[in-house]
Amino acid sequence: MVVPPQSGRALRVAKGEQIRIVDPKGQQVADLWAFVTGDELDWLSTSNTRDITERLFPAIGEHFYGTTGEPLLTLMANDSPGPHDMLFPACNAALYRRAGFHDHHPSCQDNLHKALAGEGISLPFTPDPVDFFQNSLPTVDGVLLVDASINPPGGSVTLRAERDLLIVVTACSVDHHPTNGDACTEIEVEVLPA
Ligand SMILES: [Zn+2]
Repeated sequence: MVVPPQSGRALRVAKGEQIRIVDPKGQQVADLWAFVTGDELDWLSTSNTRDITERLFPAIGEHFYGTTGEPLLTLMANDSPGPHDMLFPACNAALYRRAGFHDHHPSCQDNLHKALAGEGISLPFTPDPVDFFQNSLPTVDGVLLVDASINPPGGSVTLRAERDLLIVVTACSVDHHPTNGDACTEIEVEVLPA
């Protein structure tokens, strides 16, 4: 599946399937959300994941957790120099207004909700995403700045679903910061059988 530049796509994966998120052209941030749907609703929680792993980002073999502390995904492979981010929210309309864009601008937040609407899901809030390939590690002074991604063309991460999940991936819409290099490009998502 191709996620075109500045857009988002939803897909359902079964427990045990693996999801490979590829940045074909390099320097493109991919935001990821994961939801448990059905009778219960849960979602990947970046804060719970930081708490349980006691890290800014899971190591290989560690999990991304839901709000109840249940593992939803496992980081199987990191074929990217990173870094990856779990501190920032999705880019959103207010961020673009602060940056001086007063006309409509695509955003990961809007693209998440559009993708969920296509699955018949309406959320009154926006969980924080996992920002693959985003170069924004905090400094020792606690400064948080987003620099240009250093992910090379073809850099990827591979995750395994630990539950049946609804996954949303966006190709980040930021085209004014160094965030995504010189241009917003597409993200590819491959699902590998269990
Ligand atoms: Zn974004």
